Amino acid sequence: MKPIVCLIAILLFVTVSSVVAQSPMTLSVDASDAARNMLHSKISIPVKPGPLTLFYPKWIPGEHSPTGPINDLVGLKLSAGGKPIAWQRDDVEMFAFHCDIPQGVTVLDVTFDDVSQPESIASVKLARIKWNRLLVYAQGMNSDAITVKASLKLPTGWRFASALPVVNENKDDVQFKEASLTQLVDSPAIIGTNFRKLPLSSTGPMHEIDIVADTTAALEMKPETLTGLKAIVGEAYALFGARHYRSYQFLVTLSDHGGSEGLEHHESSEDGVGEKAFSDELELLDFAELIGHEYAHSWNGKYRRPVGLATPDFEQPMRGELLWVYEGLTQYLGKVLPARSGLWSAEDFREALAAVAAEMENQSGRQWRPVVDTAVAVQFTYPSPRAWMNYRRRVDYYDEGSLIWLDADVLIRSRSNGKLSLDDFCHRFHGGQDTAPVLKPYTFDDIVSTLNEVTPYDWRDFLDARVNRVNPHAPLAGITNGGWKLVYTDKPNTEIRIADHARKSIDLSYSLGMLLKEDGTVMDVNPSSAAFKAGMAPGMKILSVNGRMWSTEVLHAAITSSKTITAPIEVIVENGSFNETYKLNYHGGERYPHLERDNTKPDLIGEIIKSRAQQSK
Ligand SMILES: [Zn+2]
Repeated sequence: MKPIVCLIAILLFVTVSSVVAQSPMTLSVDASDAARNMLHSKISIPVKPGPLTLFYPKWIPGEHSPTGPINDLVGLKLSAGGKPIAWQRDDVEMFAFHCDIPQGVTVLDVTFDDVSQPESIASVKLARIKWNRLLVYAQGMNSDAITVKASLKLPTGWRFASALPVVNENKDDVQFKEASLTQLVDSPAIIGTNFRKLPLSSTGPMHEIDIVADTTAALEMKPETLTGLKAIVGEAYALFGARHYRSYQFLVTLSDHGGSEGLEHHESSEDGVGEKAFSDELELLDFAELIGHEYAHSWNGKYRRPVGLATPDFEQPMRGELLWVYEGLTQYLGKVLPARSGLWSAEDFREALAAVAAEMENQSGRQWRPVVDTAVAVQFTYPSPRAWMNYRRRVDYYDEGSLIWLDADVLIRSRSNGKLSLDDFCHRFHGGQDTAPVLKPYTFDDIVSTLNEVTPYDWRDFLDARVNRVNPHAPLAGITNGGWKLVYTDKPNTEIRIADHARKSIDLSYSLGMLLKEDGTVMDVNPSSAAFKAGMAPGMKILSVNGRMWSTEVLHAAITSSKTITAPIEVIVENGSFNETYKLNYHGGERYPHLERDNTKPDLIGEIIKSRAQQSK
């Protein structure tokens, strides 16, 4: 393996006196109790006598936040030669444990259990093995400099997949090849009783999709889905022009109880979706976007990473100010790739753009907060509460970032009369030679200079204006200059149907200005909306609409008839232990966003989603 290079790591490297860096740690994970949300971990660390601090991974790559699930570490015991060694948690850094290694001791044994939250990483039939949850290491060590020999004991009869190379498999015991701690954490495994593996390429590096599911029926994939997944491998190579992995595996878990996930790695991705992801029409569209997004991350996020996110271990804080590149560009490419691969239709692509454009344009938080602030504040924007989210803004560096990159793509296409595109930026920035996993950090200046190499323009101001300043309107120039207009009709939007299906919600953002649960509970209210002006707020529960008992049909009927009736929509809501009546002065009918063709301009949106792999054949 080519070791992962990290420039910052060299500067921050700290030698720890009580650790023998050259010898590998061993990590034995017993997953026999995975179905009970319990994994047993045994770690042996080469040590020298003296004080030692052990660290539990806190800042997890791809999560951009201190999300290491320290509360799930239980039963911690330290020993040497069978004799217990006392430990003490640091009273400020909760992820650090201090101990004193006695004279004569060369190996410290650490055992603990990882007790995951139900519905997070495991169901009765499958689990995701995330190594960072299952180990501690010597604080201050660079994760590239620590080597680990890992092994995994599976529940009887279960099978596994991982990008981590295997040296030996014996029934339910798997021995992995020695790897750096960085590579180990970047190479999770999926395990499950219902397992399927499908190759996605016949030449060049190995690409495959590995699937574990709650049922055997869920493993069934339509032939056109498999064709689309194979096409996405070719489209990504055509887009970037090089690969930075030795092989690539989509590690897919299909379960309504094993937790959802989308986490990128150099040589694999964790793609945790619902049990019906391959069979339900809406869930399949959502799955295609997840696959496109996580796969694009192998280039944009893992190979090229903002310097602030390229940390030398799992302890140094990450800085998220360039997440509108890391996640925003990936969010854009995560829509382009499924469209170019046939997993999405052109209409699916436009519906997704319309949904994003409408959501960002109607985000009232944009009146006080630039998109960069949602990225800088990443430590709390992911778990941001649902209530008043429209006013807070959440992880808008994803969706608003994608609109900024669409804007850049259309601008490059327009200025070059169609000869160049954002693909040329990706070629320069993410391409080059094929390599094994390697990390090449970048700065804002690197983005600006590479864009200028593609098409000379004032890219610094272009990005500064859209990212760093408060903007009352979303950056929609990519849509309007791309030959389309954002319009609202009474026809439901596909992307909004997907979101409503997934969260069991009713999105009325563009009519009443509310997001509701199917039972009538208000999840969010837009402060510029009729609902807000009437007095409504998150947490209230609608009991009746225009005198009739709550149902989604009754509410939709009231919205539809609002166009022809002058009286307001009257709702009775439960607010705590009180019932209250509100009058919503709204008369616009059902409203959902779509893109409508503007025939005065060339259709550049249509050009963006043309297959590039087919063109280059
Ligand atoms: Zn992402």
